[in-house]
Amino acid sequence: MPQKRRAFLKTTTLGLGALSAGTAYSCQGQNPPTNLVTKPIIISTWDHGMAANKVGLDILKNNGTALDAVEKGVIIVENDPKVQTVGLGGFPDREGVVTLDACIMKGDGQCGSVAFLRDIKNPIAVARKVMEETPHIMIVGAGAKQFALEMGFKEENLLTEPSRKKYEEWLKTGIYKPKINIENHDTISTLALDTHGHLAGACTTSGAAWKMHGRVGDSPLIAAGLFVDDEVGAAAATGLGEAVIRTAGSAMVVEAMRHGQSPEEACRSVCLRIKAKHKDISDLQVGFIALRKDGAYGAYSLQPGFTYALGLDDTHELYPATSMF
Ligand code: ASP
Repeated sequence: MPQKRRAFLKTTTLGLGALSAGTAYSCQGQNPPTNLVTKPIIISTWDHGMAANKVGLDILKNNGTALDAVEKGVIIVENDPKVQTVGLGGFPDREGVVTLDACIMKGDGQCGSVAFLRDIKNPIAVARKVMEETPHIMIVGAGAKQFALEMGFKEENLLTEPSRKKYEEWLKTGIYKPKINIENHDTISTLALDTHGHLAGACTTSGAAWKMHGRVGDSPLIAAGLFVDDEVGAAAATGLGEAVIRTAGSAMVVEAMRHGQSPEEACRSVCLRIKAKHKDISDLQVGFIALRKDGAYGAYSLQPGFTYALGLDDTHELYPATSMF
């Protein structure tokens, strides 16, 4: 487990400089001393989070905003046709249509979201436009596409040949049993803390493969797929969206941190709640990542197999999350 974060020492006090840079402290289950200050850090779900973090951390290290870092980071994954769970090349629904969901949120409560969006490969950028250019938070379906086109986004076919082939294979049986952690899910959620001390998060997905046409999961829902509050921290989810929505997952993780739980403890307590609400969780996967406002971070999932990527200092690492089973 990543226990190697270095202390972030206040260097602003007139020439005192760093007091003891390099001091180690555990990020999990421990409140760091109050003289620790923010330093850029970025955390993302799954292996493809590495690519997002690389772009995002560069932005953060140049004193860019957490908002830019998470948006530009996840766009890399949306644009990658090899990632079949996000953006271009995402698996379609059972009608063969790729529909995308995304939301973005800042620590001051500003947020934007799109759901059931077709033919536009960067839903996260559209969600940001909803936040910045409209009085609304969420726009869905044909309205979201119309808005995206008005904002200058390009219409394109998102169903790539490899995803179409998989869909055709699936059609042979047509059995829908959402199993996660395996190839047909894997939302990218990214959380960042910038040098200005602000948090932001982004969450973007093509949702569950072979879902019913019109199905929307947790990922574009503020409080379920993502929640960010500069006063406390940020959290985001991946896994079976229905289970996350049922528990207002990400908001609950942030609230658990508000009440003193460490990031990992907070993720775990919401996983426990999800477990309690489902009779059979043998095929159910949900994972959370969390980032506290002081830079402490954590992750937790129901089933093993959930990975998260961490970008900090000059390093990028991938870790397995602690899991319940
Ligand atoms: N949470 C997403 C959904 O249910 C999928 C995932 O994260 O794997 O749409």
